[in-house]
Formats: sequence, structure tokens, C-alpha cells
Amino acid sequence: MSELHKFIFEGLPVRGALVVLTDAWQEVLRRRAANTQTGAYPPPVAELLGEMAAAAVLMQSGIKFDGALVMQIFGDGPVKLAVAEVQSDLRLRATASVTGAVPPGAMLAELVNAHGQGRCAITLDPRLRLPGQQPYQGVVPLAGPGGVALRGVAEVIEQYMRQSEQLDTTLVLAADGMRAAGLLLQRLPVQGQHNLAQSHVAREEGAVDDDAFERLSLLARSLKRDELLELDADTVLRRLFWQEPLQRFEPRQGASGPRFACSCSRERVGAMLKGLGRDEAESILREQGQVEVSCDFCGQQERFDAVDVGRLFTPAAQQPPQPGSVQ
Ligand SMILES: [Zn+2]
Repeated sequence: MSELHKFIFEGLPVRGALVVLTDAWQEVLRRRAANTQTGAYPPPVAELLGEMAAAAVLMQSGIKFDGALVMQIFGDGPVKLAVAEVQSDLRLRATASVTGAVPPGAMLAELVNAHGQGRCAITLDPRLRLPGQQPYQGVVPLAGPGGVALRGVAEVIEQYMRQSEQLDTTLVLAADGMRAAGLLLQRLPVQGQHNLAQSHVAREEGAVDDDAFERLSLLARSLKRDELLELDADTVLRRLFWQEPLQRFEPRQGASGPRFACSCSRERVGAMLKGLGRDEAESILREQGQVEVSCDFCGQQERFDAVDVGRLFTPAAQQPPQPGSVQ
């Protein structure tokens, strides 16, 4: 089961979160692999997308916001676009469009930053948008200071948090065909910096606090990719922080945890076909034997054969009852 664990270090200005996506991530991969037009993601793309999904859950879990956090990488290599979207309630989905050959073992730069033009955008799209309100968006290049190519999604998001949110962040991410997981540590902003007297105190404490974040980050970075992909959350946190004043919150899992969800459905595709009109739908049927529609986001394919199409355009009263349906 996919899960999210949040924690703080008592008395230290550092918060953290650990996410392990199993069933939710496997469903992303399953739908893509089952799509007869695209087939499965090449392993390097799956790894990139899984790390993005884990990072997006970690970012969403750290903000007070009602809506979708959308992480997009606009690539200039064989991957043109990779997207991970996480709602406030941790429903998630992810997709990537692959247009070129992906060499085995390709890294971030090769996949999405072949010519140095790749970008990562984070968008906060509120669930209820006020009239005229635009979603918030921040964008960073996939290269660090001096144009040094960043090695992975973790470095990109660390840079984003530093540049756009002024938040020191340490991220460790990993993904494979079974799991996408990540560990995040973040320095909490020191309280009361608007107040002169308090800011003096805050600075003095800050000297000690800086040490805490750096020390805990070193511990976090000692986490190996294999450990993140194989160990359970309790073991990871115990191994890394057994000497630290770790205070954990109730994990989020199951119906309140990270879980796959896409807004596509057979009903929606049916409604779209109805919108096309009977003539158009029947002409596709004649040409291709069936009408096949793929969800752009998750790759789920819906197929309508002649009987399904006929039923769509037949008023409900004339249809025989469906097996198992309540009439
Ligand atoms: Zn879908």
C-alpha cells in the first residue's frame, strides 16, 4: 500500500516527509503498458516519472493549499513532456510523452535537457478558482549556476525550492518498476524575523539551527537508492535518525494516502462520441472496425464496437436491460 509519513525533529527547525508509492505507482505503469499505441515506458523514463511523482507528493504534503500541484518537465530530448499531478487529498496521476529513442540507462540531461533548453515548472492550480485568478507557477532551468547540468529530479526540485520558495530542501528520490519513493527534509523558516528584538534572538539560535539542518541532511543523503526502493518506511527512518529527536505523525495510507486516480472514464468517452454525432462515429466504425479512444493522461484505452456505438445512439427506453444493472 502507498503511504506518506510526516515528521519533525523536536526542538529543531527541520521538518521531513517520506513517501512510498507502490500500488499507486504500479497502476500508472500498468495503464501505460496496456496501451496498445504507446506500450510501456522505457525504464529510464519510468524512473524519471516515478521520481517526479514521489517528489510531487512530498511537495504537496508540505503546503496548505486546496487544489492540484502539477510538476512538469518540458524536455528537449527524447522526452518532450513529463507531468506528475497530485491533489491536496493525495490522489495522483502522471504521464510522459516520449518521441525519440531512449538509450538504456539514460540520465536526466540526456532525457530532457539534451540542448540545455529543458525546464521544470511547478503549478498550483486551486480547486476553486476565483474569477480572473491565475494558477501560481514557478519555473526553473534544468541546469544549476554556471549552466552545470543537474543530475536528477531531486537536484532540480532542491534548486526550485531554493530559488522560488527560499526554502533549503534536501531530497532523496528513487523509482523502479515496483516502487517510487522519496525522502524530504526542509529547514523551517525562523519565526518572528519581522521583529527586531526577535530577529536578534532568531539569528543567535539560527547559528545552532543551521548545524541541525546540515547534519540531518547529511544523514538523509546517506540513504541509498536500493534502501529507498526495498526497505519499509519505519526501517528507513529508524536507521537514519535513531539518534535524533524524531517525532512522527499519523501516517497517511489507504483511502487518505497517496493513491492513483484519473478523471477519465468510459462514460466520458461515450459522451464525447455522442458529441461527435452518429454519422461520424459510424464512419470511424466502418474504417477501423471499432472506435478506440486513449486517455491523454493515463493511457487508459476505451473501445466501442458496433454494438456499443449503436447503444450510445439508442434512447434508453428502447434498450434491453443490462446484466447486473439496476433498472
Ligand atoms: Zn485517464
